Amino acid sequence: MRPPRLDLAFSLTTTQESFRDELRAWLGANVPREREPDDEVGRFAFRRAWQARLHAAGWAGISWPVSYGGRGAGPIEQFLYYEELAWSGAPEIADTPGLLIMGPTLMVHGTDEQKARYLPRILGAEEIWCQGFSEPGAGSDLLALRCAARVDGERLIVDGEKLWTTLGPVADQNAVLLRTAAPVDGKRHTGLTMAIVPHEQPGVRVIPLRQITGEHEFAQIFFEGAVAPETIGAVGDGWSVALTILDAERADQGFTDHARLLSMLHEVRELTERAAGDGVLPQDAVAEIRHRTDALAGRCQLLAELNLGRALATERGERMGSWGSFLKLYWSELWQAVAELGLDVAGQRGHADRDWAREYLLSKAATIYSGSNEVQRGILATRILGLPRER
Ligand SMILES: Cc1cc2nc3c(=O)[nH]c(=O)nc-3n(C[C@H](O)[C@H](O)[C@H](O)COP(=O)(O)OP(=O)(O)OC[C@H]3O[C@@H](n4cnc5c(N)ncnc54)[C@H](O)[C@@H]3O)c2cc1C
Repeated sequence: MRPPRLDLAFSLTTTQESFRDELRAWLGANVPREREPDDEVGRFAFRRAWQARLHAAGWAGISWPVSYGGRGAGPIEQFLYYEELAWSGAPEIADTPGLLIMGPTLMVHGTDEQKARYLPRILGAEEIWCQGFSEPGAGSDLLALRCAARVDGERLIVDGEKLWTTLGPVADQNAVLLRTAAPVDGKRHTGLTMAIVPHEQPGVRVIPLRQITGEHEFAQIFFEGAVAPETIGAVGDGWSVALTILDAERADQGFTDHARLLSMLHEVRELTERAAGDGVLPQDAVAEIRHRTDALAGRCQLLAELNLGRALATERGERMGSWGSFLKLYWSELWQAVAELGLDVAGQRGHADRDWAREYLLSKAATIYSGSNEVQRGILATRILGLPRER
C-alpha cells in the first residue's frame, strides 16, 4: 500500500496540476515492478536503464532548460516531481552527480561545444560523471588540495591523487579540481583549474573502495601523467567553477528527500502493525515505536514545508544563500533517525521489503559528504548568527 500524501496548505496552478497528473500517470505505467537487484553491478545497470527510460520520455533533467534537452520545470514543479517519484516507489537514477551537479555546472561555465557534447549523454546516463575534489588531507579544507597539473599546449598533464570519489569506479569523465599555479599573495583559491579527465586512459588508475555496506560506490584515483584534454572555465578560474558545483551539491539533496523519508516511515508503520498483530512485539515496545514514528513524521512534514518554502522563494528569484547549509543539516540527521528506527523495527520483526541494515549504514555517510555537518554548523554560526570565525 502506498503512503498517504502530504497535506500542504498550498494550491497548485492549472499548469502545475496537469504537470503532476501527467507525471503521475506516466509513473503509474512505467515504474518497474521488479525489485532492484541486490548485487551492486546489477543495481547500477538497473538504475541506468531507469534513467534512460525517464530521459526517453522527457522526465530526466526536469529543471534543465528545454534548449538543453530538459523539461524547463519551475521550482514548484520540481518539488512535485520529487514527491511523485517517491510516492510511486521509483528506483533511483544512476548518475545523480551528472544530472544534478555536473550538467548544471556545464550550463554555467561550459563552452557551447562542451554543452552540445556532454549534456545529452548526461541526461540518458550514457556517460557517467564524477566529482574529483577530496584528497587525503583535503576534505573539509578543500583548498589544501595538492593534485596538480601543468599546461602542455592545449591540454593539461595531471599528477596526484583524489579520494572518496563517488561513482569513480564506473565514471567516464571526472571533473577534477587541480592546482595549476602557486597561490597569488597566499590566497589559496587562486591558481586552481577545473579539468575534465577521461578515466579511459593509461594515466588514470581507479581503485574502488569497499564501503561499510560492502559496496564499492566510491574510489581512490591516482593520476600519473594523465591527460586532461579540456577544462571547465579558464585555466586559473577553477574556484568559481568549484563554488557552482558545491552550491548545486548542497542545494539538491534535501529537496529530493522529505517524500522518500515519509515513504520509509510508512513502511515502518506497516512493519510495526504487522509485528503487533502477530504478537512479535510487546505492547510497550509497540507504543514506543509508534511514538517515535509520529515524531519523525512531524519532522518530515517540517522538511517538506521548508522545501516548499524554498521552492517559492526560488520562484520569486531569491538566492539560497546559507539555506543550503540548514537544509543539509536537517535532512541528513532526519534520514539517520528514520533509518535507525527502521532498523530497530525490522531487526525485531525479522523480515522486511527494504534492506534496513544497508539503509542505516548508507545514512551514516550523509553527515559527512556534501560538506560535513560540523562544517555546515560553522557556516550557520558565522553567516547567520554573526558569531566570530574560529581561528
Ligand atoms: C559517501 C561519501 C561520498 C563522497 N563523495 C565524494 C565525491 O564524489 N567527491 C569528492 O571530492 N569527495 C567526496 N566525499 C568526501 C567528502 O567530501 C569528505 O569526506 C568531507 O568533505 C570531509 O572531509 P574529510 O573526510 O577529509 O574529513 P576532515 O575534513 O578531515 O574532517 C574530519 C572531522 O573534522 C571535522 N571538521 C573538519 N573541519 C572542521 C571545521 N572547520 N569545523 C568543525 N569541524 C571540522 C569534520 O566535520 C569531521 O568530523 C565523499 C564522502 C563520503 C563519506
